[in-house]
Amino acid sequence: MNLHEYQSRDLLSQYSINFPKGEVGSSPNEIYEIVKKFNSEVVVKAQIHSGGRGKAGGVKLCKTANDAQKFASEIIGKRIITDQTDSGGVIVEKLLVTELTNIKKEIYLSIIIDPDIEGPVMIASSEGGMDIEKIAEESPEKIIKVTFDPILGLKPYQIRQITHSLGIPKKSVGSFYNLVKNLHNAFLETDSTLIEINPLVLDEEENIIPLDCKINIDDDSQFRQKTIFELRDKNQENPMETRAKDFNLAYVKLDKGNVGCLVNGAGLAMATMDVTTKSGCFPANFLDVGGSTDKDKIKEAFRILVSDKKVEYLLINLFAGIARADLIAEGVVEAAKETSFGLPIIVCMKGTNADIGFKILNDSNLDIHIAKNLGHAAELLTSVSNEN
Ligand code: GDP
Ligand code: MN
Repeated sequence: MNLHEYQSRDLLSQYSINFPKGEVGSSPNEIYEIVKKFNSEVVVKAQIHSGGRGKAGGVKLCKTANDAQKFASEIIGKRIITDQTDSGGVIVEKLLVTELTNIKKEIYLSIIIDPDIEGPVMIASSEGGMDIEKIAEESPEKIIKVTFDPILGLKPYQIRQITHSLGIPKKSVGSFYNLVKNLHNAFLETDSTLIEINPLVLDEEENIIPLDCKINIDDDSQFRQKTIFELRDKNQENPMETRAKDFNLAYVKLDKGNVGCLVNGAGLAMATMDVTTKSGCFPANFLDVGGSTDKDKIKEAFRILVSDKKVEYLLINLFAGIARADLIAEGVVEAAKETSFGLPIIVCMKGTNADIGFKILNDSNLDIHIAKNLGHAAELLTSVSNEN
C-alpha cells in the first residue's frame, strides 16, 4: 500500500525525522489561508500516489498566497500523469504546503526490500533530486548500495561508509547518522517495502533536511499495521485493481495491449504473457485468480477483464489442480452471458474435469477456440487477431 507524502511525513516524525513545516489543504481558499499563516515563500505539492510530480507540473514554488491559491485552483480535481502512473493518471484531491528550504545540495536516500538479495538494502546517491532510475543509467558509479540483516540491522561502520561516500560535511555527520538510524528503525517497524527520501538536502547552513518522502507498506502486514492501513486512499488506486483485491484476485492493468488474460498462478501468468507477446499481441493486464478457484471468483475475474474497453480477445489459461475445470467453464459462460461478451475466447485448460469443462464451453454460444497447449494458444491468438 502506498502512502501520500503528507502521511509519510507524519509517520516518520514519530521516528524523530522532521520535515520543514507543512500543512495540507483541499481547496484554493484553504491553501491561501495556510500560506498567509506561514508568512513565507512556500512549495505547494500535489498529493498523489506517484513520484515524478515535479516534472509533471505537480510541484510549484510560490512567493505569495495569491500565487499558491491560483496554482491550487488550476490543479485540484485534475488528474496528473507522471512517468510512474498509467496513461489515465491519478486525481489531485489534496495539496501539501511546506515552507521553502534553500538548497545547497540534493541527496538521494532510500531503503527497499531487494527481491534479488531477499532482504533490505539502503541506497544512497550524491546525485539527489532526480529519479534513481536516471542516476542508475547516467552515473551508476554514484549509487551506493548497502545490504543489511533485518534482525541485526545496519552496523555503525556501514552508516559511516555511506556518510563518507556521500561526502557529508563534518558539521552534519552527527545529524546524518541519526537520520539514517531513525529511517532504518522506521523501515523495520512499519513493515515498509520502500522508504525513499528524495531529495534529502543540505541547506546553506549545512543542516540536513528531508524535503520529500515516499513510503510503501507491505500489503501482507495489514494484520499488525492496522493504524497505518487506515491511511489507505482508495481514490488513488485503479478502481478495477481495488475491486480485484477485495475478491483476492491479483490484477494489474497494463498500459498497452488488447488481450485479457485469465490465469491461475503467478508463474503461469508470466508464461502466458510471454506467449501472448510472442503471438504478436500484447496482454492488456495480468490477472491471477489463484489456486483455490470457485465459480464466483472466476465470474468476478471475467467481469473485471471485460470492463477494460481495450480488451479485444480473452486468453484463458488455467491449470485445474484443486480447482475444477467444469466449474471454471460454468463461471466463464455465465459471466459472458451476463456481460453479453461476444469477442473471441482462446482457452487452454488442463487438469480436473477439463473434458467436461471443454464440453460446457463448446456447447455455449460463445466464440470459443480450444487450444491443445500454450504454444497452440499463441497460434490461435495470432490467427484470430489476423482475421479481425
Ligand atoms: P517529486 O518530483 O514527486 O519527487 O517531488 P519533490 O517533492 O521531490 O519535488 C520536486 C523538486 O522540487 C525537488 O527535487 C526540488 O528540486 C524542488 N523542491 C521541493 N521542495 C523544495 C524546497 O523546499 N525548496 C527548493 N528550493 N526546491 C524544492
Ligand atoms: Mn522527490
